[in-house]
Amino acid sequence: MFDVAALGELLIDFTPAGVSNTGNDLFQKNPGGAPANVLVAVSRLGKKTAFVGMVGKDQFGFFLRDVLKDNGVDVSGLKFSENVNTTLAFVHLDKNGDRSFSFYRNPGADMMLKEEDLNYEVIDNSNIFHFGSISMTDEPSRSATLKAVEAAKNKGAIISYDPNLRPPLWKSLKDAKERIIEGLRYADILKVSDEEMEFITGTRDLQEGSSILYKMGIKLVLVTLGEDGCFYKYKKEIGKIDGFRVKVIDTTGAGDAFLGGVLYKICQKGICDISSIEKSEMEDIIRFANCVGALATTKKGAIPAMPTLNEVLDIMNFS
Ligand code: ADP
Repeated sequence: MFDVAALGELLIDFTPAGVSNTGNDLFQKNPGGAPANVLVAVSRLGKKTAFVGMVGKDQFGFFLRDVLKDNGVDVSGLKFSENVNTTLAFVHLDKNGDRSFSFYRNPGADMMLKEEDLNYEVIDNSNIFHFGSISMTDEPSRSATLKAVEAAKNKGAIISYDPNLRPPLWKSLKDAKERIIEGLRYADILKVSDEEMEFITGTRDLQEGSSILYKMGIKLVLVTLGEDGCFYKYKKEIGKIDGFRVKVIDTTGAGDAFLGGVLYKICQKGICDISSIEKSEMEDIIRFANCVGALATTKKGAIPAMPTLNEVLDIMNFS
């Protein structure tokens, strides 16, 4: 049995790394993909995780497999495409330090995952199943994603969903909204930023937006607010849990670390219905997750920055 399995994109993020001595821009190869980051966060805290997805049968794909394995994530659900390369994303910084992305995904292996590729040994044997929306931008991975989520739900898994809106990856924002909402039908736990909440519900008002999501059937709505922590709606309750003050180096992966913290704590409870958790326990879970998210901002990168349980407990015991 796996504590948490996740399906989604796994790709290379090339981030700016200075200039060569011949004056050309340098890029650093980093593992990327939010669902994989969430799994590494959960693994590093001490739970059993597994990844479902596709990379190319190329050096980048093998590198990504090795990163997951080295971080304790089971890769029996990771497939290799024979004819489509691993997806790449390049991060560019303009003169003001603002980031933009170029995606090499026309197509990319991550979106080639088909229903026949799904590993049900993993999907059927997971207490929590997590997914995002990037695997729903294109076929065949869109149908494969929904099929896997449905199967996991039928087996009684708790379903976690982080839409992670990335407009350049969609044909149109209308398409993005429709597909993201389709994914909501399955979710027990939803993590969004306030911008994503507004995109889905049309309002940035936390109380109003989270109520709309709750009425759509989400049991736990988490709206993350960067350094300000997290607003939640759980059962009929709402509240805000403050973030931890830390020295921020790089916020990449903070949201994935936060969600990893939530899923880890829910696994610890050993329950199959999150509604059985008391409000005060849920607030403790979110406080813990805020700490995981905050710690992930204190180091560069996403996967290398995911904290261990001891690192989290050290900070929590001193606050
Ligand atoms: P995302 O990365 O998905 O946009 P956020 O930036 O809201 O998500 O970060 C997720 C969580 O990580 C926050 O709810 C908070 O707990 C923590 N976090 C993020 N940025 C900071 C920060 N600057 N200081 C402290 N905690 C942070």
